[in-house]
Amino acid sequence: MNTISHTFAGILVLKLLSVMFPDIFLMTFPMMMLSIIFANLPDIDVLWSKKLNEHHKSILHAPIFWVSILFIGLVISQATNLISEAVILLFFIQGVFHLFFDFIFGRTVGVPLFYPLSDKEYSLYPLRPKYSDFNPWLSNTKKHFRYIRHYLKNETLVAFEFAIAFFGLLVLFF
Ligand SMILES: [Zn+2]
Repeated sequence: MNTISHTFAGILVLKLLSVMFPDIFLMTFPMMMLSIIFANLPDIDVLWSKKLNEHHKSILHAPIFWVSILFIGLVISQATNLISEAVILLFFIQGVFHLFFDFIFGRTVGVPLFYPLSDKEYSLYPLRPKYSDFNPWLSNTKKHFRYIRHYLKNETLVAFEFAIAFFGLLVLFF
């Protein structure tokens, strides 16, 4: 899933949460901003990855990281007034949804479910890591286009990803 889709998916997830748990989550501007940040946070590992197809092999794409942060965060929020429980829960839920979307929409990289014990990546469709076997910052545009062409080949995923992003945009107006 790309950054724009992750952004609108984050808004859609917050909307669903605000409908299901209106006592905890609201469609407020701060919660929306936090949702956008948290929904994209795992992908900052692309900043220090040498190749695009290696960026998921990091703790930020490991479920254990998000579960650990949830427990540590809840303990801190119970013991102090430093951070609200709603923010911790939002952080966890948006992070887990990011991993879930990466699992569904992965074409060249999946989710390393058991990282750091194993860096094997899992995904709904078979992965073709050769299409993102390049440095995203230093490679020529040809490799980027080859990657995008491969990304667009799976029309089902393109349509599904577009639908999620579109509904995320739509809920901003309702
Ligand atoms: Zn990701």
